[in-house]
Amino acid sequence: MAQTFKAILVSRDDDGQKAELASLGDGDFMDGDVTVRISHSTLNYKDALALTGKAPVVRRWPLIPGIDFAGTVETSTYAGFKPGDDVVLNGWGVGESHHGGLAGRARVSGDWLISRPKAISAARAMAIGTAGYTAMLCVMALERAGVTPERGDIVVSGAAGGVGSVAIAVLAKLGYRVLAATGRAQEADYLKSLGAADIIAREELSGPARPLGKERWAGGIDVVGSLTLANMLSMTRYGGAVAACGLAGGMDLPASVAPFILRGVSLIGVDSVMAPRERRVEAWNRLARDLDLKKLDAMTTTIGLGEVPDVAPELLAGRVRGRLVVEIS
Ligand code: NDP
Repeated sequence: MAQTFKAILVSRDDDGQKAELASLGDGDFMDGDVTVRISHSTLNYKDALALTGKAPVVRRWPLIPGIDFAGTVETSTYAGFKPGDDVVLNGWGVGESHHGGLAGRARVSGDWLISRPKAISAARAMAIGTAGYTAMLCVMALERAGVTPERGDIVVSGAAGGVGSVAIAVLAKLGYRVLAATGRAQEADYLKSLGAADIIAREELSGPARPLGKERWAGGIDVVGSLTLANMLSMTRYGGAVAACGLAGGMDLPASVAPFILRGVSLIGVDSVMAPRERRVEAWNRLARDLDLKKLDAMTTTIGLGEVPDVAPELLAGRVRGRLVVEIS
């Protein structure tokens, strides 16, 4: 018998775009070989862009947004998954061109799913979400570049946001000394509770960047882009590396090549959406090991599906701290 499920649906007409809670059925599914009952989703920066229309994230209309979900397989013709399996999905264009995770159910390609690590509940998997999984990809990128805790401090921009909060908690657990760059001075205690050793005011990194600044850190994780990334590069120590994954402050990069050619600094791009399966599995296994779940809980707020349209603008305005879980069932 056909089942109905609740979902957030974004649609557009001559009056513009709107996001509303809707009741949908199996006939609304897009193509896929696995049907998942979703228990939890989350709101990432990109989801907020999709929900508000502030950037062209949605590429098919109408669409269920939500680039992440956690749930249990209901039906599957995909060899790797069977009914009852606990799964997680991050990215692959879900919530952009394929119906996403802000829904009670989803039908997707089995190629996009990974098994949820046993140590991480569905709610916590979504507290991590794409933001946290990307933070882990950034940490892994710095490790591959040889940036060990002995090499020096790590600076994290957008520190009180989702990627930033998880990055700080993971880096601190791994023994790195973390400098948290934030525009929210009032969150200093929160950032220190996650493991930040010191706080840097956002303004210190948002002015025009000198080609080479004083060497202040061995590495960085940047979610802001633009002048912030340029400043982070200019103050990275000889042989260090910065992992760049975001554009919360802008898509441009007004930087000099000096850090690359005079200090051998590396700029490493990090993408979560199309990251290969092996790297995703590695990142999730590392999160199960290297993220303190008490710190994860402390950075997480839970909301209901119906609250999503109202909370999205708050997230874009930088007024959400840490991570948001959306409880579906
Ligand atoms: P959040 O909204 O949770 O956090 C972003 C943080 O950036 C804010 O909390 C704020 O931190 C800071 N910030 C916001 N606006 C500005 C600004 N104008 N100038 C300087 N700092 C600013 O978002 P997420 O952590 O989920 O995502 C962060 C970025 O990373 C986004 O651009 C997102 O699209 C990108 N991203 C990319 C991925 C990829 O695959 N490449 C995957 C996941 C995220 P504070 O208040 O502490 O200053």
